Amino acid sequence: MQRRLFLAGGGALAGLGLWRARGWAAERLGLDPSADFALTGQLTQGGWARGKAPADTRQLTFNGRQVRLAADGAFLIAFDRDSGPRGELLAELRDGGSSRGGFAISPRAWQIERIPLGPRPGTPPNEEYARRRAAETARINAARAIDHQVDGWRQKFIYPAFGRISGRFGSQRIYNGTPGSYHSGMDIATGSSGTPFVAPADGVVILAAAESFSLEGRLLMIDHGMGLNSAFLHCSSHAVKEGDTVRQGQFIGRVGATGRATGPHLHWSIKWREARLDPLLFVGPMPG
Ligand SMILES: [Zn+2]
Repeated sequence: MQRRLFLAGGGALAGLGLWRARGWAAERLGLDPSADFALTGQLTQGGWARGKAPADTRQLTFNGRQVRLAADGAFLIAFDRDSGPRGELLAELRDGGSSRGGFAISPRAWQIERIPLGPRPGTPPNEEYARRRAAETARINAARAIDHQVDGWRQKFIYPAFGRISGRFGSQRIYNGTPGSYHSGMDIATGSSGTPFVAPADGVVILAAAESFSLEGRLLMIDHGMGLNSAFLHCSSHAVKEGDTVRQGQFIGRVGATGRATGPHLHWSIKWREARLDPLLFVGPMPG
């Protein structure tokens, strides 16, 4: 038995209202709304959606991978910057049936800058640097691997700091035809080092580096639950420590220029599992 998928995707950037899409194939139209998915969010590259699985769901998968369900049947899925154009949800029901729905993930037009020169020379290969970098990425990956029972993922996110957006998520430079890595977060320039910033949503501090990482500088990471986490780069200091529970709006650190940064700014990135997401799609346009 197959059942329906209801979709309501918002266009946060334009502040558009909700719309409904019929991307589902149904053998049978259930009249019981508890038998259907509900899905709302930003159904686009770098976006996310929160949903509710049918009441009697035993297991849920998104594009073939299992998704965790909260006790009330709520779940979160998100779409990488380079995500393909389709999403598929499949709920296997306790009665042996299933509920399936497909939807479109709209492409984005990323800001691409073409530079008619070769790539900037990076750090020359150096054994000591490679060792140090490997230890840093291992720490970041270990921090992300731990799942905490927190509900920040259910909240409407807020800006951690206000200022000029000096770097957009997804933007990319192409050096003489060779693409550089794209910008993985949103840069907020607050004008000076030391500006306090706050938690965009509830969570648990999973990494608060006392020493400066090579690229990220003093890195702070918050787990918002369900595989969703925020990272704050280049901090001058942290106001919280690993293991701390933080509330949305709580002061957690100060903006700086540690690591690879040309000036003081807060680089805020969001990931769901391996998917890199656009913070702008969680908070909407910068006020003022
Ligand atoms: Zn940045």
